[in-house]
Order: sequence, then C-alpha cells, then structure tokens
Amino acid sequence: MTAAGAGQVWAHVGQAFSETEYDVIVIGAGRMGAACALYLRQLLPASKLLLVEQGGLPNEDGATILAAGVWTAQDIPEGSGLTPEAAPFWKAQADWTRAQLAAQDGIQFQKRPLLSLYTTEGPGRIPTAEALAAHPDSLAVLDADQLPFAEPDLTAATYRPGALAAAQAGAAVRAGADLMLNTQAHLIPGGVRLDRLTVTNTHQIVTHESHTIRARFVVVAAGAEGPELLEQGLGIHTTHARAYRQTPRLNTPSDGGSGSGRAADLSPVLRVPVRNGGGLTLRPQNGGYTLYPRIHHRDPHGYAPTGGRLTGVPVGLRRETLEDLVGLMDALPVLGTEALETGRSLADVPGAWLALPGGRTDAPPLYQRPLPDVWLLLGGPLADTVGLAAAFDLAAACAGRSGRPWQKD
Ligand code: ADP
Repeated sequence: MTAAGAGQVWAHVGQAFSETEYDVIVIGAGRMGAACALYLRQLLPASKLLLVEQGGLPNEDGATILAAGVWTAQDIPEGSGLTPEAAPFWKAQADWTRAQLAAQDGIQFQKRPLLSLYTTEGPGRIPTAEALAAHPDSLAVLDADQLPFAEPDLTAATYRPGALAAAQAGAAVRAGADLMLNTQAHLIPGGVRLDRLTVTNTHQIVTHESHTIRARFVVVAAGAEGPELLEQGLGIHTTHARAYRQTPRLNTPSDGGSGSGRAADLSPVLRVPVRNGGGLTLRPQNGGYTLYPRIHHRDPHGYAPTGGRLTGVPVGLRRETLEDLVGLMDALPVLGTEALETGRSLADVPGAWLALPGGRTDAPPLYQRPLPDVWLLLGGPLADTVGLAAAFDLAAACAGRSGRPWQKD
C-alpha cells in the first residue's frame, strides 16, 4: 500500500515495471543521491523522478555506510574548491549541512566534541590531559606525553550516514519519488538502461530484465563509480579518481562515561597526526572505535586492494594503512595490542571505494554538468561536513533556482 502522493517502490524483480519515461533519474541512493532526490522533489514537485540503486537501502558496499559520520568545523574546505558557484560559501554550506543533519530523525545525531591532537603547542590548543580529564577511557587510548596538545572542536557532531541515506530516500518516496532497488543503471544518450538484478539459486547475480528509459535529466550520484559510468556510457572523460579506504575497528572502551547520553559524557572523536601529513580519525562507535585512516593518493586504474603483512603474518590492511598505524604505535600504544582488528584477509576488514573529486584526497564535494542533460554529483572525503549542501546545490541548479539558503544577500 502506498500513502497518498507517495511514489512507487520496486524492490525485487517480481514487481512488474512498465515505465518508459521520467523527468529526472537519479543513479545511486547513497547519501548524495538520496539527498539530491529529496531536494529535487521539494524544488520540482511537478516532475516525475526515479531514484535507482543497484543494491539495497543503504547499500552494504557503498561509501556511505562506511563513512565516519563526523561533522567538524575542522573539515570545512578552504580555498576555492571545485564547484565554481559554491566557492566562497563553504563555511555557510557546512553550517547549513549541520542544521539539516540536526533536524533529521533516526540518524543518531549527537553533539560530540572532536579533539585534534598535536606534538607541539599552537593557537587554540590546550593540554591534552586537561582536554581529556573528564574522559579517562579516551585518555587511556593514547600516550598524552607524545601528544601533549589538543585543539577541541566543541561544535562537532556524529551521526550515521547509512541511516541518513535511508531516511532521505524514504522521505523522497513519501514526497512522490519512485525508487527502484537491486537495479543497475547504465547511461545511454537521452536516458538510462536499467538492468534489474536477481540472485540465482547458485548465488550468482544476473540481469533478470532490462529497460530503456528516456529522461530529461540524469543525475549520476553513483559514488566512486560515477566517473566510470560517464566514460562507459557516454565516452566522457573526467579528472576524478577513487581510492579504497578501510575502516578497521579498535576494541577499546569508548562512551564509558556516566551513560547519561549527554554530550559532555560522550567520548570525543580523536584525531591524531600521521607522519608526512594527514591524520587518523578515531570515531567512538558501538562501545569501541572505528578507525578512519588518511587517504594517501588516488588508486591507479585497475588497482585491486590486497592485504599487507605485520611481522611476516598476513593481515587484511592495505600496506599504506598498515604503515600509518605502525608509525602511530608510540602515540597510540593500544594499536600494538589485540584491540586492533586487522583480520587475516581484506574481506575481514570493512572497506569501500571513495570518490576523489578532481583526483584530490582533500577535495570538497562537487557537481558538474558534463552534458546539458547529465549531472555528476560526487561526495568524496568531505561529504560528512558539506555533502548535503552540494546535493541541494545541484538540485537548485537543476531546478533553475538562483538563490541558495546559505547565501546572505
Ligand atoms: P556517496 O557518498 O556519493 O553517496 P556511495 O558509494 O555511498 O557514495 O553511494 C553511491 C551509491 O550508488 C551506492 O549505493 C551504489 O550502490 C550506487 N551505484 C553505483 N553504481 C550504480 C549503478 N550503475 N546503478 C545503480 N546504483 C549504483
């Protein structure tokens, strides 16, 4: 049963599909595509919109479900960025994104301080021991003599990006968008080909049926796969790239506190510097920490991640990540213990492909219009802090709206 005004949902191939035309098709229901679909419904309520996702909601393999979900003022992009229209507005866009997140139900949005730790003094830094005095569990993770200074961001917050994608896709459907799951989209001139996928009884994923759909606009929000879709379907080359990021787990207590759930009691997000630049983020989650290693560089075309070795023993962490963690063992002695789950093979450690807009590891989210009827939306490494604004911006540009909610007149 669908609520009045709600869109249709096709979750499996048993449900007949006979549409041939949409105004807008959004490929990918990660947090970028889901948000864009919702904003498009709000800004273009008369349009017929289809959101297509090759997996479920959220996709277990996408970048969204494995994103840190850490909003922090320390990640607000500097400089001009890559979306020309948006360049001067990053701070305002980050604040707008935060307000959207805070208003969203069901994503466990929590105000939670973030502490960036340093070896030297600097502006805005306070002694680490003082910053973590109320958080003995957090203090126990590190050697405060090695990282004696901390820069707090008391405006930081954490949330669940996978839940955000699911909530926004659900809201888009209630607002009239159609949604098709387990369906792989391919770009073709003037529209898309949809391959509806099913699983055989020998567990192979096969195409059950294909449909060719015309669309006035296609928004490619397929994460790391977006640039490839453009290239394969339409022969459009871009400078974008991707990287494989793993998120190992550290099983050491977090959120011990008084258990009151008050912001002051929540273990802070910790960020520690890595030699030669970048940082490792420790995000309190499920009573321990999820580690978000820095991204070193774009992965070359055709790169397939493999595990590394620690004292001769195979582990499931890729070599650069392993080297960073080994280099941090003095500052974070807990990394040298069994609390760090390295697994034996790559499959043991959660990981996902992340889009790198412009091939840069520090690039803000961006959208582009490579053809008059095709838009590309990329979240990338900073999507936690400014992603929703980029999704909104694309929707507004598509709708021909000039003013942005974060722009001051
Ligand atoms: P983002 O942060 O940009 O949302 P994700 O990787 O989480 O990045 O989201 C991209 C989504 O697009 C994933 O859920 C993925 O399954 C989906 N996707 C990728 N390629 C296709 C495709 N060809 N057809 C349909 N969905 C796709």
